[in-house]
Amino acid sequence: MSNVLIVEDEKHLADGLRFNLEAEGYEVETAADGETALLLLLEEGRSFDVVVLDVMLPGADGFHVAAELRHAGSFVPVLMLTARGRPEDVLRGFESGADDYLPKPFELAVLIARIGALLRRREWLRHDREAAKPAAAAPASKVEDERRGDEPETFSFDGKSIDFSALELRTKGRTLRLTLMEAEFLRHLVRRAGQVVSRKSLLEEVWGLHEDTDTRAIDNFVVRLRKYIEDEPSRPRHLLTVRGVGYRFVAEVESEREF
Ligand code: CA
Repeated sequence: MSNVLIVEDEKHLADGLRFNLEAEGYEVETAADGETALLLLLEEGRSFDVVVLDVMLPGADGFHVAAELRHAGSFVPVLMLTARGRPEDVLRGFESGADDYLPKPFELAVLIARIGALLRRREWLRHDREAAKPAAAAPASKVEDERRGDEPETFSFDGKSIDFSALELRTKGRTLRLTLMEAEFLRHLVRRAGQVVSRKSLLEEVWGLHEDTDTRAIDNFVVRLRKYIEDEPSRPRHLLTVRGVGYRFVAEVESEREF
C-alpha cells in the first residue's frame, strides 16, 4: 500500500482528497502547513511514496517545502498544486524540485492518475526498468509517454554521464540526483544537440506550458543545471545561451574560444 502525504491548508479540500485517495487504496496523511510537512518528512523521517503539495500555504509555502526537501536529500516524488493561470508558479515549482504539477482547480480523476504515474515511475526506478513497464496505459504525462520509447537511457559527454532513467548525473567521482524535470530538460536539449532550442519550445515540450510566460524564468533553471554539468558554470561550454532565442547543448567541446 502506498503512502500519500497531502499538504493542504484548506481543510475541506484536504479531507476530500483523503477520503477519495483512501477509497483508491492509498494510506493518507495530511498536513495543514509546510512546517508540519517538513517535520514529518525530515525530522521524524516518515516515509511517504508521494507528496501532494499545495503552493499557497500559511507560513512556509510549497516552493520552500520542496526546496527544503531536495536540499536535505529527500527525493520523494512531489506533485505540486499550483494556481491556474500562473505559469510562473509552475516554473518556480520545478526550480524548487517538484516532479509534476496540477493547476487548481483540478479534476479528482486527474489527480489520482498523476499520483499513479509518479508511483509507477518510482517503481520503475526501484526495480528492473525493462520488466517494470506499465501493463495498463493510464493517463500519463508527456514525460512518461516519451519514456516508453527505445531511447538510450544514458548519455555520456565530456567525462560525464546522464542516466535519464535513474535520474542521476555522474561526473568525476560524484553522483548527483536530478529531479524529473531537470532530467527531461537535459534530455530535450541532448536530443537536439548542436541545434538552437528556443525557450518557448522548452516551455511547451518540457513543462507543457502553452500560456504566455515570462520565458526568462527558464534561465534560473539553466543556472542550476550548469552547476551540475559545467566545470566552470560561469563559463559554460555545454549548455550555451543563444542570446534572445534560447539554448544550445554541445556535447563535444570545441577548442577554447578566444575573446
Ligand atoms: Ca492553500
